[in-house]
Amino acid sequence: MIRNPIVVAIDGPAGAGKSTIARKVAARLGFLYVDTGAMYRTVALWALRNGTELDDWHRLEQLALAADIRLEAESGRVFLNGEDVSEAIRTELVSDAASRVAAVPAVRRAMVAKQKVFAETSSIVMEGRDIGTVVFPEARVKIFMDADPTVRAQRRQQQLVENGRSAALHEVEGEMRRRDTRDRERAEAPLLQAPDAEYLDASGMAIEEVEEAVLKIVRERTSH
Ligand code: C5P
Repeated sequence: MIRNPIVVAIDGPAGAGKSTIARKVAARLGFLYVDTGAMYRTVALWALRNGTELDDWHRLEQLALAADIRLEAESGRVFLNGEDVSEAIRTELVSDAASRVAAVPAVRRAMVAKQKVFAETSSIVMEGRDIGTVVFPEARVKIFMDADPTVRAQRRQQQLVENGRSAALHEVEGEMRRRDTRDRERAEAPLLQAPDAEYLDASGMAIEEVEEAVLKIVRERTSH
């Protein structure tokens, strides 16, 4: 247990650059970086693998509770029940399944409980969709990171290429729009900007500029 851990909550739609920035900012501050999207992806992967119907909420809850999810801080790798699933969770199929699984209230409860534990032992930079609204509503630093839909789709396409996959831009953009709509319109913990979050449009900015902008917000909000 550390006294007064600092929580930097970064929320926003897919492809806004949250992961890249959150990882860099965490490294600069010496905080733990937590990618909560990876947790929902891991539950989705498990469900897909064992043939669980994505509308079987009871079974999904059981999987979410039973899943041993480990996020390795140094390497950023993700483990499900001891298996390294870092690459397996990054497919488009899993992206789509993750946003369906994430709409299940009991799955969210299980993930939020696991997420809260991170801040018991460390200051953290946590990114997702509901960190500033639901997981840590009392967080000192909240940022809502956004970007133009085309910029976001290009970024996601680039990531797919880096992972050895290819996809047409319009397909990536369509998939992303469907997922964002589902994330924004679900009843439980929808994607929305917390009233006390700083809005940051990263569209025309270089990574270093976004990183500096986030660090400036962190300094301002933690200096008194
Ligand atoms: O951030 P990422 O794109 O990896 O997240 C995958 C999906 O997980 C999102 O589309 C969203 O449905 C869900 N998610 C969520 N709440 C979070 C993080 C992710 O609902 N805090």
